[in-house]
Amino acid sequence: MSEPLLIRVRNALAGVLNPASGRNIVAEGAIQGLSADEDGKVRFALQVDPTAQENAASLLKAAKKAVEAVAGVNAVSAVATAHAALGAAPKPAPPKARPPAPKAPAGKAAGGHDNPLGLKKRPRIEEAAETLTGVKHVIAVASGKGGVGKSTLCANLAVALAKTGLKVGLMDADIYGPSLPILFGIKGRPETRDSKIVPPEAYGVRAMSMGLMVSEAQSLAWRGPMVMGAVRQLMSDVDWGELDVLLIDTPPGTGDAHISLIQSKRLSGAVIVSTPQEMALADVRRGVQLFRKTDTPVIGVVENMAWLESPSGERQYPFGKGGAEKAARELDAPFLGAIPLYPELQQASDAGTPLAARDDHPASAGFRQLAEQVRAFIATL
Ligand code: ADP
Repeated sequence: MSEPLLIRVRNALAGVLNPASGRNIVAEGAIQGLSADEDGKVRFALQVDPTAQENAASLLKAAKKAVEAVAGVNAVSAVATAHAALGAAPKPAPPKARPPAPKAPAGKAAGGHDNPLGLKKRPRIEEAAETLTGVKHVIAVASGKGGVGKSTLCANLAVALAKTGLKVGLMDADIYGPSLPILFGIKGRPETRDSKIVPPEAYGVRAMSMGLMVSEAQSLAWRGPMVMGAVRQLMSDVDWGELDVLLIDTPPGTGDAHISLIQSKRLSGAVIVSTPQEMALADVRRGVQLFRKTDTPVIGVVENMAWLESPSGERQYPFGKGGAEKAARELDAPFLGAIPLYPELQQASDAGTPLAARDDHPASAGFRQLAEQVRAFIATL
């Protein structure tokens, strides 16, 4: 008699080598939440290195292909999740690999380390914040570490808030891993008007990202002053206009960008995103403490990738159960709710069509509830 389907699938996955580590993806512990139901539907999450996106995509493809080839498998639903201690510094740039000053828009002088956008001359952060005269509320979205879905959540929250009728902006200040251009499918360099950048509008949201101005290789090499300069310029050199809410997707961890934002004294509050594993407490605590220490209200904690639902409605918990909710409770911070793992959420994000923009997917209801809570919070201010 042949082995159970789950074992055969596992063996097939063990035949997939991760070229980056030289080990197979089962042995290195990259496969999580593996399940196979009676109808031959297989689900799993592949944990990948968030700094090696190309490798991640080809690895996920290879893993899916290997599973599809197993007799008895009828459908494969797989998602890549990136979990790494990104609170740590990004990969160091090789010596001499310092980015050249990016090309300035026509007619403007290119900037130096403190002026990555190459537009106006270095405003102080408070001055930069003063230019946000038309913006009613600035809200930071943060996470203790990378790969928890902070950018995905932030982008979908922005869309959901815009759908409630608010004027919403989204500033992608996740300098080391700007993902907004992909999440919203925005291409090309934005226009400038009166020496300010005009943020492109997508899904009802005015959106701006360093990823539209500089290459990935350039931003990865940035250090403190440039990161802070980038945050300042995303505030002062972008024509945000009149907004009810400007959401800021911050880099993972608690670093220079956060310090800059806090110093701007413009934050109305912060939303912390975490995955549900037991270890979430430490990550959530770091974020909560950072904002509380500076009297920035913590609007609440969102648990992302909370569970994976089978077609029969059965829940699996590949990353543990309820850790972020527990962490929020222990820290006396509001719990804003849980967003499950939806393979379609990743696909939609990669395709540049945020699920929150649709009405026919349960994820969109989850983002709407989240948006309502954020809206309720700002209504109290
Ligand atoms: P972070 O900003 O925390 O580094 P990302 O938003 O880039 O994380 O998300 C990491 C990966 O996880 C992306 O591939 C994204 O599409 C996927 N992802 C995020 N949240 C979910 C979810 N709830 N269900 C499925 N995939 C998700």
